[in-house]
Amino acid sequence: MKRILVYGLSILASAVILFGVAQSIHRAFVDTWNERQFEELAVRAITRMEFAIDLAVIAMSELSASGKLACTSQGEEAIRSAVFASSAIKDIFIMNGGEACRAFAESDLQLETAAANKPRYGARNAQISLFSMTDNAGHPALGVVWTLGEGTEAIAIVSTDALLFDILPAAVRDYADIRIDLGASTVVASYEPGTGRLAESEVAKHFRGTSDRYPLASRLRINERASSGWNRERPLFIDIAAFIAAIIVGSLIGKLLSRPPSLTDELKNAIRSGEIKPYFQPIISLGSNEIVGCELLARWIRRDGTMVSPAEFIPLAENSGLIDGVMEAILTDAGPQLANLIAERPSLKVSFNVTPRQFLGEGFVTRLGALILQSGLSRARLVVEVTERQQIDDMARARTVTAELRELGIQVAIDDAGTGHNGLSALQTLGASCVKIDKLFVDGVVTDHRTRTIVEMLVTVAREFGMTTVAEGIEHSEQVAVLKALGVQEGQGFLISRPVPAAEFREQVNRSSLAGKVVALEGGRLPTAPAQSGPPMRLSGWR
Ligand code: C2E
Ligand code: MG
Ligand code: MG
Repeated sequence: MKRILVYGLSILASAVILFGVAQSIHRAFVDTWNERQFEELAVRAITRMEFAIDLAVIAMSELSASGKLACTSQGEEAIRSAVFASSAIKDIFIMNGGEACRAFAESDLQLETAAANKPRYGARNAQISLFSMTDNAGHPALGVVWTLGEGTEAIAIVSTDALLFDILPAAVRDYADIRIDLGASTVVASYEPGTGRLAESEVAKHFRGTSDRYPLASRLRINERASSGWNRERPLFIDIAAFIAAIIVGSLIGKLLSRPPSLTDELKNAIRSGEIKPYFQPIISLGSNEIVGCELLARWIRRDGTMVSPAEFIPLAENSGLIDGVMEAILTDAGPQLANLIAERPSLKVSFNVTPRQFLGEGFVTRLGALILQSGLSRARLVVEVTERQQIDDMARARTVTAELRELGIQVAIDDAGTGHNGLSALQTLGASCVKIDKLFVDGVVTDHRTRTIVEMLVTVAREFGMTTVAEGIEHSEQVAVLKALGVQEGQGFLISRPVPAAEFREQVNRSSLAGKVVALEGGRLPTAPAQSGPPMRLSGWR
């Protein structure tokens, strides 16, 4: 149910975001596209005007080429036909020393006056110039002057009235205007259906076009809302694509969110919520069978009661930087649980494990010192076990750390001795006070004479350097006999007891102390229930 909700919300959130993104992208795209369109329209207006002027020049040059650009009856006839053939040209006339002859003498265009008085603007072609004029009805027109010779010029009147009429798209026509200026600001053509609605504050943009050949410039203006509203309808496929993307992205996010947390996250939570607990495995003196200490072993007890092995989570804790958190959890939990026992049993030792990387890490001794203080444990009872399974890279530093710990009263043990990469060098140089012989050698000590030789060697070196020897993983009473014979002083293993919770360990110690010796059930295992009464029991076959 929760999963469905997570998926649903993820898809909904993705849809909202993706539709928003699609809308923004579409808007930006449309705005850019519209701007380009308006720019093109402004240029198109200029091109049209150029084209109309070109037509007039061509008409005049054709008349000139056929010798009919002259004030003769034949010439006037030809000029009349040329004007009649072109919709853009209103009239053509020839000015010769103030005298004018024209095709349509009856038209009411004040041509001569305009030609004589209006300012002229030269084109790139020096023979051509332009002037603006209006007809009697007030419609703008353009005079195209072609200088034929000294005092003689042909002038074509080009109608610019309808030139811009269909330039503006119908959808924005009522909110835009366009005009063409001759020179700086003389309007020669305009189409201004939206001028009334074009308050300058609402003008989105001005678009301009200029002519290379003639002194003409166009200017298109459009209302802001009309500009951004043009072509605004979003095609259906965009919405469909956004919808499909929302389902895909939403499902992926949903999958990500409803994914079970990683083991690292779980371990972090476990440390925080107190699911990492110490278990206690007793260590006995092989000589007296008395419990002389215990090893704290980390257990991850999940809320559902399942237990995760340290073999699984200790490497993870080390690689994810949570190993100090595990150490803190173990020591702070063990402290109060062992407080009474330690007070009653002045010789009881408490060992706990650290990895070489932890041991060699910056500030380890200081951190440990503070932690011990906080846990209430006594430094004089503590033994730090450093495993030899992993390489101890910097033996010189390891030696310094050991010395610093011993200075504080804390002992150091080499754990899993014999398995490591360091050979005997760790034993000889570290300055530890205890060697824990790995289960591997305890397993073979009864049956394999080579293993026995290795154990013997470890015991010899340990003795030489004044270190205690502890055998790990004792499962059979035969192993006890051989280990004792080889001079191993202490032992721990399932034969004696598995790692147990604090309460059980306390009972084991109390029973042991009641009897003055280790009490045992048949099979050599310590009882898990308190012994009610009766004579003290011994581990059968141990002596
Ligand atoms: P270790 O320090 O060598 O601990 C001894 C391991 O051997 C423990 O396994 C213990 O339960 C097991 N063991 C003891 N006696 C017997 C036996 O007779 N037979 C067998 N088959 N096993 C026996 P555990 O508790 O699973 O711990 C495994 C390793 O995880 C430890 O090896 C230690 O290296 C590491 N570890 C445990 N707790 C911590 C911790 O708090 N911090 C760090 N850094 N490492 C820890
Ligand atoms: Mg250990
Ligand atoms: Mg070990």
